[in-house]
Amino acid sequence: MKFSEVSSLLAKASRDRVLRTGLARSIKSYMGKRRFAEEASELASRVREAKEEAIPRLKELAKQAADSIEDNGGVAYIARTAEEARRIAGELVGSGKLVVKAKSMTTEEVELREHLERLGNEVWETDLGEFIIQLLGSKPMHFTSPAIHVTREEVAELFRRKLNAKVGDSIPELAKAAREFLREKFLRADVGVTGANAIAADSGMIFTLENEANVRLASALPEKHIVVAGVEKVYRTSIEAWMAVEVTMRYAGYKSTSYVNVVASPSKTGDIEKTVVYGAHGPRELHVILVDNGRYKASEDPVLKEALYCLRCGACQYMCPVFKITGGYWGGKVYVGGIGVIWTAITGSIEEAMLHSYACLLCGRCIEACPLKIDQPKMIRELRRRRLSSLKAR
Ligand code: SF4
Repeated sequence: MKFSEVSSLLAKASRDRVLRTGLARSIKSYMGKRRFAEEASELASRVREAKEEAIPRLKELAKQAADSIEDNGGVAYIARTAEEARRIAGELVGSGKLVVKAKSMTTEEVELREHLERLGNEVWETDLGEFIIQLLGSKPMHFTSPAIHVTREEVAELFRRKLNAKVGDSIPELAKAAREFLREKFLRADVGVTGANAIAADSGMIFTLENEANVRLASALPEKHIVVAGVEKVYRTSIEAWMAVEVTMRYAGYKSTSYVNVVASPSKTGDIEKTVVYGAHGPRELHVILVDNGRYKASEDPVLKEALYCLRCGACQYMCPVFKITGGYWGGKVYVGGIGVIWTAITGSIEEAMLHSYACLLCGRCIEACPLKIDQPKMIRELRRRRLSSLKAR
């Protein structure tokens, strides 16, 4: 990608009135809930301390988490690259299967849905926002609200066109149409794929936050459950993982999300002669793919390692003046906003990240908004400095 392509993409986004309307409505709604974040600021500083302890020990903790998952009856994998993560998941799913998928930035990063579809599977995003994005053939525009830029009028038109749904513009009607379409997919699915908000190394417990119950259904109804998560989601203990989950929901704008799911093993029963058998009412198999894809290297980078503290709560994006006018077009191919620029550098193209870095105003509002006070401007300045050094060296 060239600098001129990035600037024209952002200029085009800034002129998009529908995008501005969608963003303005969502940001207004979030600001009314910001008090939930402020109430959790003390807990957030404890999560920062937990991250400061965990990130330098990332490899060791990922290995410990993998061992705990296997002790519990699951199967764990550490994928060094996006390609390896896709290959492992592809072999687990096979072809001709129906897959229900929950929202996960890591699966976006490794392009899992597209890969599984290429293998001949029917794959459905089940989070409403991601479902809209899938139907649009677009990219998620925010960590927690992927369809933040799409207005209700556009969703209604999309559902009428793609689902043949007889709906008006009312939001409850649209949610009902998605529920009716996806319900049958959940019931028939062979495989459920989810992400994770936090994983505990000591117990192997995997925590996911949600409101829609789609994670719950995708991780409980199919015979096989696959979790795909970045290694930076691993904390030392279940207590620390829980604290991270609580802070994530608060800074995402919730006093409490509707559900917090905790999975530690495939479903099992020991009710006959105390003999444990896997496969009770839930999945018979649990597979957990922990993805490196640049994270281990970043954990040793004196400046960029701070990006691995990110909880993906999305608070900084709501506060960012650039995001307010460009939405998720800014950041890179997968990740969005200022923190997305840095994540593009870690997991994708350093060149693309450097080009996007020049849109940042370095105003620091993201630091104030962030539960972990991640210094995005410092990392953005560092990306620019590295680009200048590499240009001078040519
Ligand atoms: S950088 Fe901070 S505010 Fe932004 S998504 Fe990550 S944790 Fe949330």
